[in-house]
Amino acid sequence: MDRIYEKLAAIVGKEFISNAPEERYLYARDQGVQQASAPDYVVMPDSTEEVRQIVLLANEERIPVVPMGGALVLSGLTIPLRGGIVLDMKRMNRILEVNEASHYVVVEAGASHGMLQAYLKKHHPAVKHSVPDAPPVATVGGNMAIHGSGHLSQSEGGFHSEMVTGLEVVLGTGEVLKLGSCSTVPKWFSRAPLPDLAGLFLGWNGTTGVITKIGMKLFPSPKLKDVMMFMTEDIDSVTDILFRVIGTEMAEDIAFFVSPMPAYFDGFQLLMVSVVANSEKEMRMRKELIRDSVQSYLDDKEAGFLPLPPHMKVKLVEAPQKNLSEFADVMKGGGFEYVGAIMPVEAIPEAYRAGLKITEKYNITYSMGARVVGRGHSVMFYYAYPFNRADKENMGTVAKALEETNEAALEMGGIPWKTEVSGQQLILERMEPGTYHLMTQIRKLLDPNGIMNPGNWEVRS
Ligand SMILES: Cc1cc2nc3c(=O)[nH]c(=O)nc-3n(C[C@H](O)[C@H](O)[C@H](O)COP(=O)(O)OP(=O)(O)OC[C@H]3O[C@@H](n4cnc5c(N)ncnc54)[C@H](O)[C@@H]3O)c2cc1C
Repeated sequence: MDRIYEKLAAIVGKEFISNAPEERYLYARDQGVQQASAPDYVVMPDSTEEVRQIVLLANEERIPVVPMGGALVLSGLTIPLRGGIVLDMKRMNRILEVNEASHYVVVEAGASHGMLQAYLKKHHPAVKHSVPDAPPVATVGGNMAIHGSGHLSQSEGGFHSEMVTGLEVVLGTGEVLKLGSCSTVPKWFSRAPLPDLAGLFLGWNGTTGVITKIGMKLFPSPKLKDVMMFMTEDIDSVTDILFRVIGTEMAEDIAFFVSPMPAYFDGFQLLMVSVVANSEKEMRMRKELIRDSVQSYLDDKEAGFLPLPPHMKVKLVEAPQKNLSEFADVMKGGGFEYVGAIMPVEAIPEAYRAGLKITEKYNITYSMGARVVGRGHSVMFYYAYPFNRADKENMGTVAKALEETNEAALEMGGIPWKTEVSGQQLILERMEPGTYHLMTQIRKLLDPNGIMNPGNWEVRS
């Protein structure tokens, strides 16, 4: 019998470990185009103590540990490039504390965004958290580990990683520690005023340790929601339009998108502006101020608001946007992957043109768009390419297009987000040597045996 299997089974119980071929097959891949690579074991821990014991065992045996949430990142970051253990965190999904007065929630890292959203709606309707447009099974831990963003990123403070108020982590050494106010007092309300160590686990793709608990900001949840759709044919005006709408401080979420489908939208730039309010009067005022901000475009007939039928509004005020998931696999071929590049706002026109060029060159379909992050401090510009999983040639073409898109994003002064290993290489090639040196020193300190998600954030020799 497999010795490591037995030891893992002693930690989590036989029901929560597998080395069966079918499980290893499933956990070897995600919905994107990245190459499959099978784990030796899939393990589902139920507590921080179980995670600690698994990491200690992996150190003894020198086998990789790859933390996994919903495996929805699409760019292969949960694919165990060097085998070992996939640590599926979904059993660690408890909601531990909701503090309405200080506006934070503490969850286990495997809690899904959908579950948390439903829980808050039912038990704490006065508050909400920022929801990514990912399918609801996406976990809070997985989303934080890649600096996610969501429907409150424009109005309430930026990337989701900026909304973290505290972390509990298991280092690659097996040591357990807390970061933020919870390290010192029994409250998870803030990372300040202590030295900010949470960043050692945010944006690292699970290469420094396993996040086991997260404190996260909550925000007031106004009663009414509405959405305005603004349409223009002129990509060069989008930066200015965004500047004006952001400047009103009246919108909750601002997203821009273009898509060749449905055909009647082809060639138009659409801006979706979500608005929330506590009364009809407030809603009218907010919408009026947004309309006023772009009045000169309306007067010059260069752009306009699109009347939205009620059944469409119902879909568009939702967070997450189910439309996105529906559109993702528009070819009905079972796959899609996107480059999400964090860009300066003024790069939007160039980013759009570069995307069109690439999709024309490779003759692939697409959707493109951007979500404003912070008050126009950046955008997450996405280039989404669906593909047919049964068609290897089509998958290869999309992989090439993604790679070229990563390069184009960097050329434009953006940085690919949650990017595949090949995109990470492009970033590392351009990174200041001192920065990369510090990253490797930090990893050596937190994970001396290099067991945490190896192959990621590493310069290929
Ligand atoms: C249709 C669609 C729309 C999307 N829209 C958005 C969006 O609006 N905003 C957004 O942010 N994302 C979006 N995404 C991307 C992605 O799905 C989400 O970011 C998702 O939240 C990732 O969470 P996950 O649990 O699936 O992470 P996973 O894919 O499981 O993991 C992501 C990374 O985090 C690491 N990791 C996972 N759990 C832990 C842990 N506990 N400790 C340490 N490391 C860990 C993994 O090793 C991996 O490197 C979208 C995806 C799809 C398919």
